Amino acid sequence: MSGIERVCISVNSVCNLKCTYCYFFLQPDQLPGPDAMTSAEIGVILGQAQRYALRPEADKRIKVNFVGSGEPLLAWPAIHRAVASLNDAVPDHRLRFYTVTNGLLLTAPLVAEMRAVGISPSVSLDGPAWMHDRTRVRHNGRGSHADVMRGIGVLRDGGVPVAVNTTLNRDVSR
Ligand code: SF4
Repeated sequence: MSGIERVCISVNSVCNLKCTYCYFFLQPDQLPGPDAMTSAEIGVILGQAQRYALRPEADKRIKVNFVGSGEPLLAWPAIHRAVASLNDAVPDHRLRFYTVTNGLLLTAPLVAEMRAVGISPSVSLDGPAWMHDRTRVRHNGRGSHADVMRGIGVLRDGGVPVAVNTTLNRDVSR
């Protein structure tokens, strides 16, 4: 029997995009955001998840997904510190790490850090530019497709498998 299989940590509430269908609290340019979690706060959750993962009913490794009510990588330093600390303190821990990102902040150094601490990313991409840019826009209204594709390229260059999340809505058929 499996108990808790997945823990989602919503690390912040700001975003560098303003997708038309987004219902999260959007507050640009206050990075990493007034309510962003600190690495210590994230570390408390990871510690609890690890303790739970040692219980008999947790027969699989627990998936920990860093998400945001916005873009989680705006809080990357805190995420990175918390995961690196757990890896150092408990090298044989029973957690697996994931994140969902809009891809805009992916750089070669960040991707290298991601690989080093063992976080698997997935990127939100809503199709080709004509489709994606209808909805996934910046705060100034400009489409983000080219930026997302650049981020995916950085992941590929860094040897990271790229998983994609796509949000479909009725506009796809128009
Ligand atoms: S990237 Fe995600 S959180 Fe940011 S505006 Fe788009 S849907 Fe909302």
